Amino acid sequence: MSTGAFPITRTQAPKAKPADDSLAFGKVLTDHMFLMNYDEGRGWHSPRIEPYGPLSLDPATSVLHYGQAIFDGLKAFRGEDGRIRLFRADRHAERLNRSARIMSMPEMPVDLVRQSFDALVGVDHDWVPRKAGTSLYLRPTVIATDVMLGVHPAHSYLYFLILSPVGSYYKEGVKPVRILASDRHVRAVKGGTGEAKTAANYAQSLSGQQDAAAQGYTQVLYLDAVERKWLDEVGTMNIMVRIGDEVITPPLAGTILDGVTRNSTIQLMRDWGLKVTERPISIEEVMAAGEAGTLKEMWGTGTAAVVSPVGTLGYKGRDVLINGGETGELTRRLYDAVVGIQYGRTNDPHGWTS
Ligand code: PMP
Repeated sequence: MSTGAFPITRTQAPKAKPADDSLAFGKVLTDHMFLMNYDEGRGWHSPRIEPYGPLSLDPATSVLHYGQAIFDGLKAFRGEDGRIRLFRADRHAERLNRSARIMSMPEMPVDLVRQSFDALVGVDHDWVPRKAGTSLYLRPTVIATDVMLGVHPAHSYLYFLILSPVGSYYKEGVKPVRILASDRHVRAVKGGTGEAKTAANYAQSLSGQQDAAAQGYTQVLYLDAVERKWLDEVGTMNIMVRIGDEVITPPLAGTILDGVTRNSTIQLMRDWGLKVTERPISIEEVMAAGEAGTLKEMWGTGTAAVVSPVGTLGYKGRDVLINGGETGELTRRLYDAVVGIQYGRTNDPHGWTS
């Protein structure tokens, strides 16, 4: 992995690296960060790598008030062959730009974002953990940095990329979760910010998450905001159901994130000759299939877990148990296939790793 042509200031105080089996999610950050500034008229400039450390922001900095903040999340994996691979880095860089457009923020050259990933992972390559199932999480972020209290798109921005070694999501094996289809909380509306990876979406999801936890569920399954009927997303994952031999997942129609894992798993299933339909699916259809025994599997997809099987689906006081509460065969097959590609154990027919 090349560190590119960016100026690098190396840390004089490298941190002690945690043991691979003690890694949690996002608690430890690496030694360096990538920074780049934007100013209207000048564009993106001053890309550089510096020692990881606090940012200094004026209290009137616009992001702190009006929330122009976008990010993305992707992973680098150390294969058994020792090679470090990023999974679908271009698609993540492109999604960062889609988020930027939705939030009235400036887009970035995808190549430059890509190079920032490669350069910083190159500098901190020793931080990519080695134990099976571990990875290095990349968090590219853009914030508005105008110092002013007027409500309008900012004229200056900061891009920063930080890295965090993360442990295996499934330390005790893939485990089905209990999810609650919420009739109280919604996540997004058409014409809003649901398609963007923007900070506010996560802030407003916290109360629904707390509510679900209080009722004994792990995640919230969001329904659409208008009819409270159609499946949107589950927690920070896209949702898929298998009814009979058909896999159904909500379409990209303006309220859900275009998940990279969603896209990858749809592609794999189509490669395998399976029928995958992107269409609106109602909670009543899923509950009825659950009660009739035709709901064979249900899972979320996302970078953190790859796939997360749903063992129990709750809605309005009814619970359905899916596949006896066990991980289904397709869910497992998808997990194995994606992970195999990520760690370079199997071939990569679509060139997703680089
Ligand atoms: N939806 C939301 C709201 C998310 O935050 C995420 C995680 N990025 C996803 C879906 C899954 O997307 P991906 O597969 O790209 O991680």
